[in-house]
Amino acid sequence: MKSFTFDALAGRVVFGSNAIEHLAHEIERLGARRALILSTPEQQALAEDVSKRLGQRSAGVYPHAVMHVPVEVARKAQEAAARLGADCVVAAGGGSTIGLGKAIALHSSLPILAIPTTYAGSEMTPIYGLTEAGQKKTGRDPRVLPKTVIYDPDLTVNLPVAISITSGFNAVAHAAEALYAENSNPVTAMMAEEGIRALAEGMPEVAKDPRGAKGRSDCLYGAWLCGSVLGTTSMALHHKLCHVLGGSWNLPHAETHTVILPHALAHNEAAAPEAMRRIERAMKTSGASTGIFDLMKQLGAPVSLQEIGMKQGDLDRAASLVMEAPYYNPRPPTRDSVRALLDDAYFGRRPRQ
Ligand code: NAD
Repeated sequence: MKSFTFDALAGRVVFGSNAIEHLAHEIERLGARRALILSTPEQQALAEDVSKRLGQRSAGVYPHAVMHVPVEVARKAQEAAARLGADCVVAAGGGSTIGLGKAIALHSSLPILAIPTTYAGSEMTPIYGLTEAGQKKTGRDPRVLPKTVIYDPDLTVNLPVAISITSGFNAVAHAAEALYAENSNPVTAMMAEEGIRALAEGMPEVAKDPRGAKGRSDCLYGAWLCGSVLGTTSMALHHKLCHVLGGSWNLPHAETHTVILPHALAHNEAAAPEAMRRIERAMKTSGASTGIFDLMKQLGAPVSLQEIGMKQGDLDRAASLVMEAPYYNPRPPTRDSVRALLDDAYFGRRPRQ
């Protein structure tokens, strides 16, 4: 076995149908008396319900989270938390809401309790992102890692199928890259493989029966594992590409991860055989990149950059931006290999095995 270092992240996970019932107890456990509840405007009803459950321990609802945490949105939320005397932040929603909670924690060191309702995985990571003048900057800080995460599949049954599927592939992308990350290790590899298996089984169930308990709990369980390995490993070309495309062209987050994933895997296939075998085993398929691509098609996910808003004329610049700063990847990328990958992704070609 090759040598490795494993950095475990502290955090408590409460998982299960109706796990939201544990909320008041979990807030008490954190020693909090005034929790500020965050959500997007679309999920305000969920935040109001959370607030009602907390009664006296709620400092109020702040339903102003938006995608990618613009600095001015973060600043207003930090001010609201201070004004309301919050001693804890409850982030109820997807990565955008949890991202806003992280921006408050970064500024104030308040503990976060996260209630994720998508599969993006931010709740399990010490990674934060802030967007200023169109540039998204990310960083790691232990203060932004939620202290407690409540995973309740019942809260995800209204997540539209199309978002559920792209969010699921977003999670699979974390696990796939964790398998060949520079600091991958036996523990994260087990979690990553199991996370992919759970999502590969859960996503078709969710597509068939969006309110069904089995599909929803498989997907959320998979999302937990995939988010965990995102938090403890360093990722590679796939995440770099998505960061550039999302940051510079404002492409939608989960859709971009979905479209790029089979092509990033095809790029790395020969250089990371052990990772590919694990993905194939988890997905019960004979090719990692083609297996992902075929499942995307089967589930009606977007498969091309052109259908999610990228312009062909911008591919050259995107390839250059991806090559600007060096980063680890099992197959060292060249400008030509990245440009070819982007071309395949732009047209939504099935990867060649
Ligand atoms: P999102 O949080 O923007 O949610 C997408 C939409 O779905 C929103 O309108 C939201 O209100 C709605 N929604 C969420 N859950 C719902 C539910 N159960 N029912 C109905 N509607 C629901 O999307 P996301 O993909 O979860 O998060 C994307 C953001 O998270 C990006 O900014 C990305 O960079 C960030 N992210 C960060 C990390 C990290 O570790 N820091 C990890 C993953 C994603």
